[in-house]
Amino acid sequence: MSSQSSVVGVAHEVVCNSKKRRVTCSFCQCDHRVTACDRKQRFGMHATEYVLTSDDLLTATSLRNRLKEMPAIEGCGKGSPPFESIAKEYLPRNFIIHEARSIGTNSRLWCISFIGIYGEVIKTHLTERIRITYDAMNCLVTHQNKVKKYVYDETIISPTAHH
Ligand SMILES: [Zn+2]
Repeated sequence: MSSQSSVVGVAHEVVCNSKKRRVTCSFCQCDHRVTACDRKQRFGMHATEYVLTSDDLLTATSLRNRLKEMPAIEGCGKGSPPFESIAKEYLPRNFIIHEARSIGTNSRLWCISFIGIYGEVIKTHLTERIRITYDAMNCLVTHQNKVKKYVYDETIISPTAHH
């Protein structure tokens, strides 16, 4: 494998003449390791975390299965029309799945928010609690990059999930 693979959105500052190599969190850009990231932990507190990377396609498969199986509320609900595709700049972003909706027998919508490079929900009408179709979700889950992408499934807790 070549080491020329593209690097997306990752700070790669190199501090020369320093004994200590600078550590930059890939989740929030602060000076700690991603495994010690408070912001990341906060997102994971009430959600199931999926880590997508081109090195581990099994996780994408289990997330796809989860998307079909996760508890969904009937009807499309209120809101602006769902996005059928995702702007390129948001494709590599981490994101939260807040809610799934089922429409008819075979169709689903999801309510999601994108997390920016500093580990915060991006608060715009194009990025916070937007509704997306299956095709758009499929693009987000198809992550063909080594750089890890974190997905938070908040649908695990549902009042109607009891059998
Ligand atoms: Zn961090």
